[in-house]
Amino acid sequence: MSYIKGVVTTKIKGFYYVASEGKTYECRLRGVLKRRDRKDNCIVGDIVEFGEDGAITAVHERSNMINRPLVANIDYLVIQFAAVDPKLDYERLNILMLNAYYYNIKPVVVINKVDLISPEELEEIKEKLEYLKALDIDLFFISTYNNIGIDRIKDYIKDKITAFGGPSGVGKSSILNLLQDNMELEVGETSKKLKRGKHTTKGTTLLPLDNGGFVIDTPGFSSIEHPPVEDVRRLISLFPEFEVEGSCKFADCIHINEPACRVKEAVERNEISRDRYEFFLRCYEKYKLERWN
Ligand code: GDP
Ligand code: ZN
Repeated sequence: MSYIKGVVTTKIKGFYYVASEGKTYECRLRGVLKRRDRKDNCIVGDIVEFGEDGAITAVHERSNMINRPLVANIDYLVIQFAAVDPKLDYERLNILMLNAYYYNIKPVVVINKVDLISPEELEEIKEKLEYLKALDIDLFFISTYNNIGIDRIKDYIKDKITAFGGPSGVGKSSILNLLQDNMELEVGETSKKLKRGKHTTKGTTLLPLDNGGFVIDTPGFSSIEHPPVEDVRRLISLFPEFEVEGSCKFADCIHINEPACRVKEAVERNEISRDRYEFFLRCYEKYKLERWN
């Protein structure tokens, strides 16, 4: 029997809908996979192999997964904010970045509603977000109202699985609706697309993009909480810019009160953003108080 490889786009009542080269197949898990008896043995985003009988025989290893919504293999987390209305909250932006690094998803920052601000205000935001460059994080300014920047985003996310995160009111639904001509976000619509009229799903669905790739239909990170970072070493690892030349005097330096700390020196020289360093200190205090005791 020959096997087909595809991506699980949604799960409805024991059926797995698997997309492969523009087609969607209705599949079931082969017994041996089912007997593992775990709700996450095959999830949306998984790359699977299935036979002509529709039986999924293999689930490939995941590059990452998140639990709410339950999705695997996310390529990009689009961290979305509005330039104004609601006010751009840099703290929450940093918390979303922390989540992206924690879950091993590449962050991308999108600032919407640029139609509402002056060129001067735009410059101000660019300056505040200058530190993204050092982190190799791409930054897009868009307006879903005036269709500014939408094509660049479309091109950027093609062939990838993309999740959106950000507070409510920043235009996440608006952009998701623009990314595919007939994309419809209401729950239940996805099954219509699969021609299974009566079924509805509360689960997550990967919505196919016109030029390949998928977006996740529900904003993955909308509550914007700090990720469950285990300890201080892990926290430090979520600040890639702290990997500076040379080593601190103490091998176990946590870059806070120690002398001859290369990270603090880099902050002094403005090679590491002071805003980011202060965000790190706030995270450290918060985790110490709420988690690491
Ligand atoms: P969500 O809560 O993040 O999904 O945000 P929505 O897509 O529901 O948008 C929130 C509000 O912002 C709505 O009233 C939209 O019409 C408005 N909005 C979305 N995009 C833009 C934009 O580019 N410019 C302006 N001025 N308003 C926008
Ligand atoms: Zn140090």
